[in-house]
Amino acid sequence: MPDLSPVSVEASALSVAALSQTAASEAGGIAGASSRVPEAAGRPETIYLDHLASTPCDPEAAALMHRVAVELSGNPSSPHASGQLAARYVERAREQVADAVNALPEEVVFTSGATESNNLAILGVAAAARERDERRRRLLTLGIEHPSVLGPFAALGRRGYEVESVPLQRDGRVDLNALEGMLEGALLLSIQAANNETGTIQPLYEASPMAAERGVLVHSDAAQILGKVLFSVEGANLDFVSLSAHKCYGPKGVGALCIRGGVASAPLAPIVFGGGHENGVRPGTLNTPAIAAFGLAAELATERLEADGLRIGALRDDLEARLIEELGDRVRVNGAIESRLPHATSLTFFDDAGCPLDADALVANLPEFDLSTASACHVGTPEPSHVLRAIGVSQAEAYGTLRVGLGRGNVDADTGRLSARLGEVTRTLQRRNRIKAKAP
Ligand code: PMP
Repeated sequence: MPDLSPVSVEASALSVAALSQTAASEAGGIAGASSRVPEAAGRPETIYLDHLASTPCDPEAAALMHRVAVELSGNPSSPHASGQLAARYVERAREQVADAVNALPEEVVFTSGATESNNLAILGVAAAARERDERRRRLLTLGIEHPSVLGPFAALGRRGYEVESVPLQRDGRVDLNALEGMLEGALLLSIQAANNETGTIQPLYEASPMAAERGVLVHSDAAQILGKVLFSVEGANLDFVSLSAHKCYGPKGVGALCIRGGVASAPLAPIVFGGGHENGVRPGTLNTPAIAAFGLAAELATERLEADGLRIGALRDDLEARLIEELGDRVRVNGAIESRLPHATSLTFFDDAGCPLDADALVANLPEFDLSTASACHVGTPEPSHVLRAIGVSQAEAYGTLRVGLGRGNVDADTGRLSARLGEVTRTLQRRNRIKAKAP
């Protein structure tokens, strides 16, 4: 019998230490031109405040991943003993992920992350509809969705589907009345569970049944909500739900698509073809170590959900309160205040004259923090955040916005330091703006 019990933190610390030692010796001790791995310089000294972009892997999950990678040679599809042992780890993870979102194990399909899950759900529903000569060609989504949702919809738009954005309220939540009027005759509604920039949580429990009554399939990108706020695939009446491990302290590059009712009867066709893995819907050898770690991380995040949410939510509320006390109306919180992930805040900064400051300059002056001005997925894109623009934030304000994503590793001193430093840096930028304004 395999030992599927979670490894202890001590054991994991040892494994991680052993791993870095091996890496260092393989790299010849010091990084150089001939290094096989980047220099193992230890943890960065910055304070990490970008948990909406990614979370660090839980040490227990990382140690399990290491153990499975090193000790289990088998392909989980192979019938021999090693293969079947690997398959047991995959199936245990399937149960853990299913439990975390109130789904059944047979409803969970493993993927490489939420990007792939979103593509599979959206393109797969359209492909299945084409196969059964479905006449409905209207697709509904929100303008604030992640690019991995907007991208496949745009591709379908180019193939003749009508893609419509459901109007949002000023707080970024979907306008349910408008949605109700748009559902008739639609094939699919994709509505995110929580936003990756503002943390705004959508009213899925109201929106989804409205769609189901009219025979509209519902997909939700739940990458950000897993392990943060209780979430039920069954309770919210969702047909397809995308999940990502690295947003809930699991490894990067692994995720899942939950298909309510299971794959066999789902109105979903594969978009990638190969072997019969995952009931034929997502072929490719399963990434056993990462899947095992995802399962454990999802279970641990669910166990810690309430305590983490309370502690980290209090840190976030305290950060906002301090900033408002310090800066008054020179700072604004974007998106819904109540219906929000506990670790998220989107903050726009202004000068005395009410002009937005430059968030890039803020970040450049705060090198001791890992902070993001917009979604990490948009890095390198000169466009202002489409999420903020879609909720009515002006272009200049969008360029003046910081996204803070707190996490397990953060403590009171981090948010205290951030609010104090933001106070200093905003004052400096304001002074510079004043001098610039006066310059002939
Ligand atoms: N959807 C949302 C809401 C996200 O925040 C992200 C990650 N930025 C993704 C999808 C993509 O997830 P992954 O990195 O697992 O592909």
